[in-house]
Amino acid sequence: MTRQEFGQQLNLLEDLVPIGKQNRPQTPLAATFITIHNTDNVSSSANALAHARFLKMTGFYIYPKNSGKKVWVSWHYTVDDLRIVKHIPINEEAYHAKSGNSKSIGIEICMNAGINQTAANLRAARLVAALMFDLKISIDNVVPHQKWTGKQCPSLFLDADKKIGVKWQKFKNLILAERNTIIN
Ligand SMILES: [Zn+2]
Repeated sequence: MTRQEFGQQLNLLEDLVPIGKQNRPQTPLAATFITIHNTDNVSSSANALAHARFLKMTGFYIYPKNSGKKVWVSWHYTVDDLRIVKHIPINEEAYHAKSGNSKSIGIEICMNAGINQTAANLRAARLVAALMFDLKISIDNVVPHQKWTGKQCPSLFLDADKKIGVKWQKFKNLILAERNTIIN
C-alpha cells in the first residue's frame, strides 16, 4: 500500500506539549535512531491519552523521592491498542534516553491493565515502519531504551534474563513485515 494509505491506519492524534514547558526544550533533532520504551504503568487508566495529559500538565518526576528535585521527561509518541498520540515534533529533542535524546525519536508503548497488547505492539510496529520510511532509518537503528542507559526497558521485549534477545527480535521482525507493506 502507499505511505498515505499506511498512515491512515495508525489513528495518529497530535496533542503537543506546549512551547515553553521545560520538557519541550525545542532543541533541534535530526533523528537517526528510533528508541522503544514500555511505560511500565499497569494502572488500567494508563493509556496513551493519560500519558499525553501527564506530559502536558506535569511532565516531571520528583527524584530522588521527597527531594523536591524535578526530573523533566518527555518522548515523541505514546501508543496504545486504539491510537497513537504525538507529544513532541520529531525535529525536536525529547527527554527519554539520556545520550539517545540527541539522536533518537522516543516511542512509549502502553501496557495498562485491560489493553490488547498484541494490537498495541502492532500499532507501534506500524508507527516505527512509517518513521523508518519517512526518515530513511534502517532496522539496525531501531533500538531498545536499554542500549542507551542499561535500563530494563522496554520491559515487555526483554527475555527472562532481562536481556535483549528473542522477544526483541520478534518485535523487529514485526516492524520489518509492516515496513515491507509500504511500497511508495
Ligand atoms: Zn524506557
